[in-house]
Amino acid sequence: MQKSVIKPPAQLPRYIRISDADNVAIVVNDFGLPAGTVFACGLTLSERVPQGHKVALADIAEGADIVRYGHVIGTATRHIAKGRWVEESGVRLPAAPPMDQIPLATKVPLPMPPLEGYTFEGFRNPDGSVGTKNLLAISTSVQCVAGTLDYAIKLIRRDLLPRYPNVDDVIGLTHSYGCGVAINAPDAVIPIRTLQNLARNPNFGGQAMVVGLGCEKLAPEVLLRAPAGKNADIMSLQDEAFTGFGPMVASILEMAEARLEILNRRHRETCPASDLVVGMQCGGSDAFSGVTANPALGFTSDLLVRAGATVMFSEVTEVRDAVHLLTPRAVNVEVARALIREMDWYDTYLDRGGADRSANTTPGNKKGGLANIMEKTLGSIAKSGTAAISGVLAPGEKANTKGLLFAATPASDFVCGTLQLASGITLQVFTTGRGTPYGLAAAPVLKVSTRTELATRWHDLIDFDAGRIAAGEASIAETGWELFRLILEVASGRKKVWADHWGIHNALTLFNPAPIT
Ligand code: CA
Repeated sequence: MQKSVIKPPAQLPRYIRISDADNVAIVVNDFGLPAGTVFACGLTLSERVPQGHKVALADIAEGADIVRYGHVIGTATRHIAKGRWVEESGVRLPAAPPMDQIPLATKVPLPMPPLEGYTFEGFRNPDGSVGTKNLLAISTSVQCVAGTLDYAIKLIRRDLLPRYPNVDDVIGLTHSYGCGVAINAPDAVIPIRTLQNLARNPNFGGQAMVVGLGCEKLAPEVLLRAPAGKNADIMSLQDEAFTGFGPMVASILEMAEARLEILNRRHRETCPASDLVVGMQCGGSDAFSGVTANPALGFTSDLLVRAGATVMFSEVTEVRDAVHLLTPRAVNVEVARALIREMDWYDTYLDRGGADRSANTTPGNKKGGLANIMEKTLGSIAKSGTAAISGVLAPGEKANTKGLLFAATPASDFVCGTLQLASGITLQVFTTGRGTPYGLAAAPVLKVSTRTELATRWHDLIDFDAGRIAAGEASIAETGWELFRLILEVASGRKKVWADHWGIHNALTLFNPAPIT
């Protein structure tokens, strides 16, 4: 991808054109630029263009291609004169690429030179996985118990946790599943697998326990993949041994304390960067996402892959329109077919709900300058860097290969976050243009802004500013390296992300495409 950043002093009008083939560019200046603005190249704006929105670099005839990132993002619904604002209504969404004719593993990137000597301080588990946090996570098999567990967790935090200083926190893996669900429907495998794998996230140290009710459809044994019958890791509120609420809570505290004792013996030790499992996602995207934060994260992703780590990108609806650019990068034909399988599954899922991929772009995306899902997608896949795609995970599947993986998830921030946690991420990097205070209790979420203005305004929510790339103050490579080093600091517990500083943590949100009864 070619980048031509015009780099005059800050107050001069600037735009960014990504590829020489582009006939549009985006306005960089905060708050946009007024009609009559003249750029260094001589281009004159004939109307006001908001920040992050597109200006036509040439006359674009009605029906002609509108090109950004070197790819067609749509066709013009009307004649657009050079210097005019290319508004959303002026761009017609192109058809999604047909999936029966796309190239499979035809341009597999060569392995990149290994990056050695980078380490972080992590919590190594008996199964070899490494956590970035030391958390007691209490699973639940049904929503009915959530209130009781929340009550117990308050007591655990107040009365038990101070005695176990090596444990970072106690969290409840509560959710809306378990009862009133079509447990045998084919797609029920997704929420069930998600809960099973969530309990095994490396940040929880292998000390799973489940609070159940007793009559739910999702049996707690299934959640632990254990045989039915007496199990010391499971308690059910309906157990006849409990007379009233107090003993139920006491039982949860007793089970929790046994696990806190074990977790408290965990200590950070030096681990190679190859032990990291990093999730990537974006939310509240704008036109800068694909210019600053996502390409920088793509560079970081390549560094992580070179260091031997596992890196996931996700969000099917933000990948679907560019899948023909990803399948050639699959490490083999099977992986390419798996990518298509996940896209196909999602097409059918959306179709069944009477929706299509155009449902993805939000009012905020459009306000930020993204005309449609094609434009958003081209910016989104920049996160995947340039490495070969070495594996594909269905929603909630656990990663068992290293390298760059595609973990199929919806784009919804908390649903993607929940599924990536089930897939085993121990840290997430989240790029945002419009801004969101999003965070996860189970893993640090490092938030990267696409614009300096956001990083300045949200100085105590955004962890890293990639907007300096648009201002010409830092290159994608410099920014990518900085982000890589920051990931190692956060994974080591030396640096706390803002979401953890404030304790802003979104609810776990399961992806349940199966019917509710
Ligand atoms: Ca998202």
